[in-house]
Amino acid sequence: MIPPIASRFVAGETPAAAFDHVRRANEDGVKVILNLLGEHYRERSAAAADAEAYVSLIRDIGGTDLDACVSVKPSQLGIDIGDDVFRENLRRVVEAGDEHGVFVWCDMEDADTTDATLDAFEELTREFDGGVGQCVQANLRRTREDLDRLADVPGKIRLVKGAYDEPESIAYTDKADVNEAYREDLEFLFKEREGGIAVGSHDPKMVSLAAELSAEYGADYEVQMLMGVREDEQRRLAEEGVETWQYAPYGDKWMSYFYRRVRERKENALFALRAVVGV
Ligand code: FAD
Repeated sequence: MIPPIASRFVAGETPAAAFDHVRRANEDGVKVILNLLGEHYRERSAAAADAEAYVSLIRDIGGTDLDACVSVKPSQLGIDIGDDVFRENLRRVVEAGDEHGVFVWCDMEDADTTDATLDAFEELTREFDGGVGQCVQANLRRTREDLDRLADVPGKIRLVKGAYDEPESIAYTDKADVNEAYREDLEFLFKEREGGIAVGSHDPKMVSLAAELSAEYGADYEVQMLMGVREDEQRRLAEEGVETWQYAPYGDKWMSYFYRRVRERKENALFALRAVVGV
């Protein structure tokens, strides 16, 4: 059982609990990206089991009228074991998405996996007519070139600031530089793509910038935020007519995800503390 303190950030341990969460979010106009918690598998069987769990989840989503899709992590599908293992598992998930009309996103992890992740994305989204979305990280110096390469690739792109600590040689490490890179990358996306742009950020400045760029260049976009973070804003955006998706993790491996959320921001840590001491 997930304690109430963690259930702000995690949609439950089972697909059924996650579906209850999706239903509630959908009532507020917010769509949900489901992520089965799990990462850095070293055994083929664990990666294959999560791929199979996604296939089953996708089949179930396809049988409902819920506004939901999925997002997978490369290391959950075996990228640490081998690029071929990852690609084979991702293919199974994307095939299921194609069959059941459920969109598949791929997260981006540490910089050692960027090439293999982008290669798999490009191959599969071309093959499945843009049915795949890929996260890219503004903190990486290479990202502008990657966006250039992906400009004519179908599918969607989620731009995030980047959650992994990377060395100065390959990444912007100063917050102001990351923000500047994010703004430039976002503008590039709006100039180069006709749509399929996802703003993966809680930053009000980036969300406003996307609205301005969309008005200027005409491309469609969506905003994506995490479950438990600025949910009032998620509902407000949805009410305003902005396509809004909430990334909601679920599964029994919730502990480390919960601690990551608590550690990353003072507000989240205070929330956890208040829940423990009951104020
Ligand atoms: P920050 O730069 O952390 O903060 C900027 C401003 O946003 C703050 O000043 C504040 O005004 C507001 N804000 C931020 N957090 C809060 C809060 N908790 N409460 C209130 N206001 C807040 N990273 C990856 O590396 N790979 C991925 O695949 C990936 N996928 C993601 C998917 C989604 C949907 C999202 C939202 C993020 C994802 N991330 C991913 C994480 C991302 O890289 C950032 O680490 C994370 O989103 C923090 O950056 P930010 O842009 O949200 O805002």
